Amino acid sequence: MIAQFPAPEDRAVVQTAVSMFLRTQKPSTRLRMLQVSRAILDRYGVSKMAVGEYTVQKAGPLATVVAKNMLPAGQRICPDCGTDIYKWPGDVRILGIREGFRRDLPTYGCRCGSVFKKSESSVLVNEGGDASAKQDGAS
Ligand SMILES: [Zn+2]
Repeated sequence: MIAQFPAPEDRAVVQTAVSMFLRTQKPSTRLRMLQVSRAILDRYGVSKMAVGEYTVQKAGPLATVVAKNMLPAGQRICPDCGTDIYKWPGDVRILGIREGFRRDLPTYGCRCGSVFKKSESSVLVNEGGDASAKQDGAS
């Protein structure tokens, strides 16, 4: 018989891999997180799996992480620890992006362990958060 729901141990493996990446924020732990997630999706033959406050989903050869919780429009701080999402270098990393018709839905993960998504127009996103350059046509 095929297990319909992933075992708690397998969810725990994914959660551990995600929290390891959030704590260390290294490319190697990011890759490990995506490989582990994909391996477990493949083991169960499913395209996505709910794990706590996010789901992991097949994406290309690996996997991606999609948060369940959406930040309120305009909020740019982590709901759990208050750190600035766009500060660089900071404590918040993009875990995955699900592209929408008009807006992208990046899923962010904070070093404190919080995972959330945010609806934002890709046009309005820039690292400094400074929109004034767009209005400067004189120079
Ligand atoms: Zn946080």
